[in-house]
Amino acid sequence: MTGTSKAIPAIDLNRCTGCGWCVAACPPHVLSLHALGDGPGAIKRSVLDDEEGCTGCALCAVRCPFDAIRMVRREQSRR
Ligand code: SF4
Ligand code: SF4
Repeated sequence: MTGTSKAIPAIDLNRCTGCGWCVAACPPHVLSLHALGDGPGAIKRSVLDDEEGCTGCALCAVRCPFDAIRMVRREQSRR
């Protein structure tokens, strides 16, 4: 099941707190936290690592407590 889903998550980096809930909720494990910046001041944000591996299940969007994830059509995500 690769590249067949119509929707992928768009993560609002301004709302994301790096809590990691979406990472834990994603069945195919295509989300992970990435450090933005260096050193102790670096912040973490959720990133979709493998767009093709995303099934479009939207569990990440449902799980996010901060409403930072919106499901978007693949085409729109490439704007
Ligand atoms: S939509 Fe589903 S498969 Fe895709 S990133 Fe979110 S939880 Fe993972
Ligand atoms: S659940 Fe929401 S706030 Fe938490 S890391 Fe994922 S996108 Fe960011």
